[in-house]
Amino acid sequence: MKITFLGTGTSQGIPIIGSTHPVCKSDDPRDRRLRVSALIEHDGFNYVIDCGPDFRQQMLREEVTHLDALLFTHEHADHTAGLDDIRPFFFRQGDIPIYAHHRVVGELKKRFDYIFKTEDRYPGAPAVAITEVVNNESFDLNGLKVQPVNVMHADLQVFGYRFENLAYLTDVKTIAEEEKAKLKNLDVLVVNALREEPHYSHFNLEEALDFVAEIKPKKTYFTHISHLLGFHAEVEQKLPENVHLAYDGLTLEL
Ligand SMILES: [Zn+2]
Repeated sequence: MKITFLGTGTSQGIPIIGSTHPVCKSDDPRDRRLRVSALIEHDGFNYVIDCGPDFRQQMLREEVTHLDALLFTHEHADHTAGLDDIRPFFFRQGDIPIYAHHRVVGELKKRFDYIFKTEDRYPGAPAVAITEVVNNESFDLNGLKVQPVNVMHADLQVFGYRFENLAYLTDVKTIAEEEKAKLKNLDVLVVNALREEPHYSHFNLEEALDFVAEIKPKKTYFTHISHLLGFHAEVEQKLPENVHLAYDGLTLEL
């Protein structure tokens, strides 16, 4: 299995439009972060977690030629706004399988009604095949077992996903004890760390580090990063052993 970080930025991406913040002006490519998303490759199949506004650029950059499923964590725009750009995959492959919580499917239907219509469809519109994800019910993607992990983004439920010994969690602020129990014996934990200052709906760096100390994965990569966290190279030096900042284009083999 392989994970490629398609985007590691928080909702506005880095650089932020019009910002003169030094991190937004950085020459280090690791400080340029598209909206958060990841590609999981397993047995020749490609699965993408979330489909934000940078999805098209991400698919082009990683030269993704087929998409076997999209898994959604939640409905916020930085995780869903690129859904129309599944069109090239749809034209070649037919209906694209999507996996999401019942509530998220409802939100996608509101925002992209033309994708979900069954009658009087616009000829160029893409279509999807929906599977609703239910907590405590693992599902199978062509032989890859996927375990949903329920986390809370302030008051909003969000799904993280565990694939074998890799767990991908984003937009976490709190997580129940019974959900933490699903995160034992991880080789790699991916989790959000926004900035140093506290935030009402995201782990800050300290909360993310406390979570890592509790879960004890072999390695951790932080994602969903704000420019306010600082320069990649400087933050990376301050982190404990086996804890890293992810960056766009980073690939890990598991
Ligand atoms: Zn987000």
